[in-house]
Amino acid sequence: MPTSTTPVIHPNPTGATGPAFSHQPQSVTRLVSSDDTAPAEVTALLSMSVAELLAMDNLRAGERLRGAAAPAIDVACAVLQWPDLATFAAVLPEPKSTKGKGGRRMDYPPLLMLIYTVLERVFRSGAQVDAEMRNPINWLRFRVAYHQLTGVWLREQPMTWAQFEYYRDEYLAPKHTKGQPIDDGIYDPAKPTVLQQLIRHLGVVSVELVRALGGFPDEDIDLQTPNRLNAIHGDGSTKKANSGVREFIDTFADGTTQTQLYGSRATVGTPRVQTVFTDSAADGKTGVGLNMVGLYWRHPELTDSRVVLFTGMAPGAEKEVALPAVRQVRGLIGDALHFLIYDGLFDGLPIDELLVEGVITVNKAPQADTGKKATTRASNRTRQPDNTPTAMKIATHRADGREIKTAAEKKRLRGAEFHHTVRTVLDDPGYRDPVGQRTFLTPSGKAKQKATLVSFDFDPAVHELADGTECRHGLVADDQALWEWTLDEVTGEKVKTTREPLERVGAARPRDDAGCYYLQLDFRIPCRHGDFVHRIVLRPTLGTRRQRNRATRLLRVLPEAYTEAFHALFDVRNDTEGANSSYNKTLYIQGRAQSLDPHAQLLDWLAWALLNNALTYVHHLGTGLEAGHKPKKTRKAPRAAA
Ligand SMILES: [Zn+2]
Repeated sequence: MPTSTTPVIHPNPTGATGPAFSHQPQSVTRLVSSDDTAPAEVTALLSMSVAELLAMDNLRAGERLRGAAAPAIDVACAVLQWPDLATFAAVLPEPKSTKGKGGRRMDYPPLLMLIYTVLERVFRSGAQVDAEMRNPINWLRFRVAYHQLTGVWLREQPMTWAQFEYYRDEYLAPKHTKGQPIDDGIYDPAKPTVLQQLIRHLGVVSVELVRALGGFPDEDIDLQTPNRLNAIHGDGSTKKANSGVREFIDTFADGTTQTQLYGSRATVGTPRVQTVFTDSAADGKTGVGLNMVGLYWRHPELTDSRVVLFTGMAPGAEKEVALPAVRQVRGLIGDALHFLIYDGLFDGLPIDELLVEGVITVNKAPQADTGKKATTRASNRTRQPDNTPTAMKIATHRADGREIKTAAEKKRLRGAEFHHTVRTVLDDPGYRDPVGQRTFLTPSGKAKQKATLVSFDFDPAVHELADGTECRHGLVADDQALWEWTLDEVTGEKVKTTREPLERVGAARPRDDAGCYYLQLDFRIPCRHGDFVHRIVLRPTLGTRRQRNRATRLLRVLPEAYTEAFHALFDVRNDTEGANSSYNKTLYIQGRAQSLDPHAQLLDWLAWALLNNALTYVHHLGTGLEAGHKPKKTRKAPRAAA
């Protein structure tokens, strides 16, 4: 399909003197040396048919698709290797025109519209997709890939971005109107939006993809040695607003109000304004933009194995979207979902709500705010840590006699001093932490002294001795783990009797008569009269939304203090940072939302998820493997016990 911009090439049929060009640019002619014969491979290439050229696919089973550079058109066509992508057609609305109700004529299938959202993530802007698809060889390659996926041949004319935008705004993600609820992506069975149906379908096909990669094995839960394949992880990430222009309502002394735009430098026309923002104060964070929430699975030993199971958007507190999202995904996975790995924002009632359904939440307990401005806790006082970097005494002068003045240098010295002090404390074998504080080294060797937000007193463990008397052991949950405590006669403070939390010898997740799951944890209590096993039963308490001080929320299956087991499972959470970074890289301006409208932003986020999952499929299960290409050796050695 030559156009006026495409030079027409007529390979010389005899092939004796190399190719002849009908329009040879002047500059090229001058560069050509006197013996004007093209190298043999150039002649060979120019003599190849289009079919032969297309067969020279340089995809290597997707191995270059991530990280290393790959031609964007290769990535775009690789996306179409994911067979489940075709099944999205079933949840896409048919445009009215093809139903015979009039309206603009649709010459392209709805599935192509969805794939164009993914292409925008590959090429990073709609204008670029437009340009790339207008290149005849690109459009031909894309059509071939589309035909292989669906059995349908697309038209000879590439779809324009304007045609896509019409369908997007009309059907895929209609713009949010002021005063109407914002679509957060959670499936509403009564009246699901197209976006919600797409996100739910993403979950359906992604669970199958995870299973194909060896995830969600149908095994009974093991709380003592958790299986990482039965865990999902999640996080939210705020994307900067597309536009810095914001709308404020100013109120004047006489009571009148006026809507004003701030931050606009426009002198003509209407500035672009993003009007919907996440209420970041709900999570105690700062930042301006929308919080995109994702749930993921990743094979612990395979690189490039991330699968996105849910994409959503939190207009308020993150867990208000994360909890129903986990439930939605739990509904698709079934009993094979054992663990949710999240950050400290996921606390309170959601932990109990998930426990009822058998899902165990794994996260780090947030550190208590012991600053002067923090709310006073008369009922449950937070203990100040013994050592804080701000209170450290440090040197005032350098070795050369000059005074240490800069804040940065003081901070560095205090940090070093803190590390040194805490290490010294930990080197003393007789040292015991008081209840409300935990002193430890992180796996990377950083010294920490953590003030616990809330400690929880359990009934003492009582056992009868041979002479008929009772022996009592005080128990407390601190930093999510269980400890025995005694009273320090000198300080009058509760002190833990051991450096490490009590050893847990057994854990089960039985179900009660009502079908609710609960926890049954067995701990070994050391005693000079003979060790014994003490059982603690944790039943979820529902309906107490704000209370953090429930046993189920303060004594957890995998506390951070069980360092090896905790990090073996929890460290997959770092992958969420990889996911955020990977999404940011597909945005035209890195880290800044591509669209003003919140629903369009959610569609962008979903499109990235489709791209991610398609590339995971190609990398591990793609057709390149059948063609004899070998994937990189991606299996990493499992994390060894320290
Ligand atoms: Zn005892």
